[in-house]
Amino acid sequence: MVDYDRETSFIDDDLIRRLLAQGPPSASTLADLLAKAEAARGLEPDELALLLKVDDEETWQEIFYAARKVKERIYGRRIVLFAPLYLSNYCINGCRYCGYRTGSGVVRKRLTMEEIREEVVALERMGHKRLAIETGEDPVNCPLDYVLEAIDTIYSVSAEQGAIRRLNVNIAATTVENYRRLKEHGIGTYILFQETYHRPTYAVMHPSGPKSDYAWHLLAFDRAMEAGQDDVGAGILFGLADYRYELLGLLLHARHLEERFGVGPHTVSVPRLKPAHGVDLGHFPHLVDDKTFKRIVALIRLALPYTGIIISTRESPALRRELLELGVSQISAASCTGVGGYSKRRGGPAEETAQFQIEDHRSLDEVLAALCRDGYLPSFCTACYRQGRTGDRFMALAKTGRIGEICTPNAILTFAEYLLDYGSEETKRLGRAAIEVNLAELPAGLQEGVRRRLARIAQGERDLYY
Ligand code: SAM
Repeated sequence: MVDYDRETSFIDDDLIRRLLAQGPPSASTLADLLAKAEAARGLEPDELALLLKVDDEETWQEIFYAARKVKERIYGRRIVLFAPLYLSNYCINGCRYCGYRTGSGVVRKRLTMEEIREEVVALERMGHKRLAIETGEDPVNCPLDYVLEAIDTIYSVSAEQGAIRRLNVNIAATTVENYRRLKEHGIGTYILFQETYHRPTYAVMHPSGPKSDYAWHLLAFDRAMEAGQDDVGAGILFGLADYRYELLGLLLHARHLEERFGVGPHTVSVPRLKPAHGVDLGHFPHLVDDKTFKRIVALIRLALPYTGIIISTRESPALRRELLELGVSQISAASCTGVGGYSKRRGGPAEETAQFQIEDHRSLDEVLAALCRDGYLPSFCTACYRQGRTGDRFMALAKTGRIGEICTPNAILTFAEYLLDYGSEETKRLGRAAIEVNLAELPAGLQEGVRRRLARIAQGERDLYY
């Protein structure tokens, strides 16, 4: 028998409460903490708890400054792009915040393999190379065999110059055996949001269905890693419980995975609660405002410097722009959170099947142009996982800074492909300039190699990477 209380004790409620009861840091402690954080050495839970006590705006500006420095140092100006692909919204869970919960009144739909092909063609025609597949939890209407067949189907579709090169998977917590099967089908990151680390809130928010089991959900990454799936993506749904508790829970979770498997989460997603079918936000007392949300992103950047931060189209273009500065490294673009929404887009988005509302409705091309205007280098790179650079191998490269010499060339090559195959005139103009700026900063030998590859891409070759 598994002793779940013992197994989940790393989310140590007493410790979190004790840490949150501390007073604010002294000036000298604060200076030490900021120096450590700025040097990308991460934060321990007691240190994060001290920063959570800061309440003057001036110190927050110093924290933001440190977060920007860490972001710049580890991720440079690269931003990775992806889109979610909703396969099925059948769900037997009762999650109070979700438009897919049982009885929400949402129209239920599961894509056929033919419909999946149509969705993938639509996404490839926009220029996407990296998708995250999403489903509700329903072992009868959406069994694992269906998801595996969908994965094979998605990887098999190629429209014109298009191909999906990395498929991340966000499906319900499952068994070691099922994680093994997902890995065998070539998934990238296994994504699962804990939603809340606070046990009493978890119980209230998940009153029924398999997801109501906190331990089963929390230990999903342990099972995934036991199955060899060493690339996992964590997340918190901000708005359910006190964000301070959540941040400490997230850090304890990451430290637990590092201690047990040698590697923590590859990414952290930071969704904020949004209106959804039958969900009244008035019932959620812990909603997070924009100002607090920026602080949250900055603190995650400092606490987990080598973990990517993902922000979705739940947030507005203006706020996403600010969050990119403070630590976000991956964004979704041109997303549809309904089932079958991409191929039907000309007839309007599939709102009746949507999980929640989104606030960034720009096309992928518009998002890319805006990124370039702000001095970023968009990236469609998917090379690391295809080269076996996952888990602790990725972290070892990231921590020595060598990953930048791989990521920047790959960002340049994949963005150049995008510009040739899908870019509007304006994005081409902005994109070429962004590529030149970033090329010029590479060491001379590498620069030459990348230029040679760019020439091959201009001749029609595709999928060149380091
Ligand atoms: N198996 C996952 C599930 O059903 O939760 C599938 C992924 S779900 C499509 C992705 C995430 O959306 C959830 O984990 C949750 O954090 C988030 N989500 C659910 N309802 C939301 C809402 N009303 N506003 C914002 N995000 C929401």
